[in-house]
Amino acid sequence: MYTKDEIIENVIKIRKEIGHEYVKPEIREIYYNDDTDELTIITPDRPEKSIIIGKGGWVVGKLREKLQINSIHVVSYTDIILKEYQLQLAKNNIEKQKKNKQIPISYIPVFENIYELLKLKHSHAYDNNIIINYIKKNINRTPYENADVTVALSGGVDSSFSLLLAKALGFNVHAFSVDPGTIILPKQFHYNIDNLIKKTEIQHEYLEVDMKQIIDDALGGKIHPCGRCSSFIEKTIHKKTANMNIPIMIYGDLLSTGSQAITFNDNIMRINLPALMRMEKNEIKNIVVDYDVKKIKGYGCPLVVQVHHKYPQYRSFSIQRVLRETRAGILEPGEALDLINTI
Ligand code: SF4
Repeated sequence: MYTKDEIIENVIKIRKEIGHEYVKPEIREIYYNDDTDELTIITPDRPEKSIIIGKGGWVVGKLREKLQINSIHVVSYTDIILKEYQLQLAKNNIEKQKKNKQIPISYIPVFENIYELLKLKHSHAYDNNIIINYIKKNINRTPYENADVTVALSGGVDSSFSLLLAKALGFNVHAFSVDPGTIILPKQFHYNIDNLIKKTEIQHEYLEVDMKQIIDDALGGKIHPCGRCSSFIEKTIHKKTANMNIPIMIYGDLLSTGSQAITFNDNIMRINLPALMRMEKNEIKNIVVDYDVKKIKGYGCPLVVQVHHKYPQYRSFSIQRVLRETRAGILEPGEALDLINTI
């Protein structure tokens, strides 16, 4: 395999060839994965990462061609430190739930799987293939007895990922999609949901609901819809979960990470699985694509798109959410910018 010095030399050459200014990048560590033919380059900080990636990913693209490698993943050590810290908080959170006896006995094997997976990810925080490999290996696992959970499935990539990981961890998954009509759950989301359910053979039900008041208030410019919409959806799933006597429900939120990724409401535990596993958006997209789930550009929800268009003063609420995910390291600044441009 290549040495750090050889990679640095190649980067300098490529930058010169394409007319970028001369700079010598520093590399902290490199890892090569034989199975995936992927090279991970860890730089000390973000500026060195930018040097290796180049404008629009041009330098790293040429480097990949030159080294004849399937893919190159460049990550800065400063980002790894944050991720490791958040994963440590998530591990502490699981230990706390165990210590406080918040985990029903029949669910303990699944939580042990969660803990082991967190441990593995924590010790290889630079490696974005840990979860994808885990899902591939365990997706056909027989669920543990009496380890039922509900999963709120919206048809977006984050909740689709949560469903896959919940199944791979050994939960017995019952998926529900709250359906207030196409203004909130449009055809593309139905398409994703139906594909995913067909592929995974998970039990699933659409829950038809009336959200007319929220929709009217949003289209009338009285509110930004997301706060009331998400709490309505949560109440609907919560009620269903309580009626089925299930103690745990799973959501696809990417925030809040660490200690707030598990919360309780009326004795029902809510796990924000992507937040707990400190998933990045790109990592999630690479996983769900194998299950016929398509990424929908920008906000796929027509209601929020109309609100942004009619009442630009509400755009800042949606932008704030993108910024929070960027600050937590879940979105790269470039991805955040693309998303903000659709708001
Ligand atoms: S984007 Fe907002 S309004 Fe649309 S489904 Fe999500 S929470 Fe509801």
